[in-house]
Amino acid sequence: MKNCVELIINWYKNNKRCLPWRDGCNPYYVWISEVMLQQTRIESVIPYYNRFIHKIPNIKALSLIDEDDLLKLWEGLGYYSRARNLKKAACIIMERFNGVFPSNYEDILSLPGIGEYTAGAIASICFSLKEVCIDGNVMRVFTRIMNYDWDISDKNNKKTVSLELKKILPENPGDFNQGIMELGETICLPNGIPKCKECPLKFYCLAFLNGNSSIIPRKIKAKSKIEEEYTIFLLKYKGRVAIRKRENGLLKNMWEFPNKQGFITYEQVLKEYPNNQFVELGITHTHIFSHKKWFMNSYYIELTNYIDSFVWVSLDEIDSIYALPGAFQPFFKYLKEKK
Ligand code: SF4
Repeated sequence: MKNCVELIINWYKNNKRCLPWRDGCNPYYVWISEVMLQQTRIESVIPYYNRFIHKIPNIKALSLIDEDDLLKLWEGLGYYSRARNLKKAACIIMERFNGVFPSNYEDILSLPGIGEYTAGAIASICFSLKEVCIDGNVMRVFTRIMNYDWDISDKNNKKTVSLELKKILPENPGDFNQGIMELGETICLPNGIPKCKECPLKFYCLAFLNGNSSIIPRKIKAKSKIEEEYTIFLLKYKGRVAIRKRENGLLKNMWEFPNKQGFITYEQVLKEYPNNQFVELGITHTHIFSHKKWFMNSYYIELTNYIDSFVWVSLDEIDSIYALPGAFQPFFKYLKEKK
């Protein structure tokens, strides 16, 4: 592995992609991009990142932004607690660090929403601190170079990689960390399709030299997801639709269309909303979260009166003000097409 350090850095210098947050190692930019990238691919993140930085250019602006505006900017990225934690962390930086992003690893790690990976990325890229950042790409590249037949999702194995890489970190740890991650994203690809012929490490990579690069790391059976059923009520009155904030569980405090757990029949819908003048079956949608699967049916219901417990909004207002999670977006699209 030691032989690979310089090769990775040189490869990175010559091949790194031009990304907006790589401009000048600004910790605010690196922080926002790393948090956005936690569950989303680079290509999808770029437009979100640009929009975010345009509207919220610095830590102070982030600490002052209204939460609904922040969630609206985050709409489509999912895992909304990440956005809330950004604001919480910005407030802490304003109070505890006088508005200056901390340059000490422990202080960075103490901020809400920042785990070892993100702290390591910010510390090494922006402050040249000798910290590692281990993500799935790093685990895969390391495992192939060493030709290890182990589970790359195992926490103990992650610890081993972290200790091993820490021993060989160079003076420019940021370039090394970014290089190994970028190599994993663009060359040492997952699912048995690495581009070994283009790889700068091919003469040192034990998986490649042993003909194992397409079978290492071995596949671990994914855990099955919890399945839940929901009925969504697309309620309309005088051109406005009903939304509410989710009170509990997944997507807590996010806006949603009224709904009930379980599938209910047309007759039950009529009983639930007796003041209707028109009811029809709407679309169905299956939404997959990291650990859950929602099967969603819907009914479109035109009412003859308001129901006080909901917030009644126009479709344009949903578009511009209210952040609606991805699970409810197909129903919003359905309502817009119906208009
Ligand atoms: S030689 Fe192939 S398997 Fe080895 S690190 Fe490079 S791309 Fe990955």
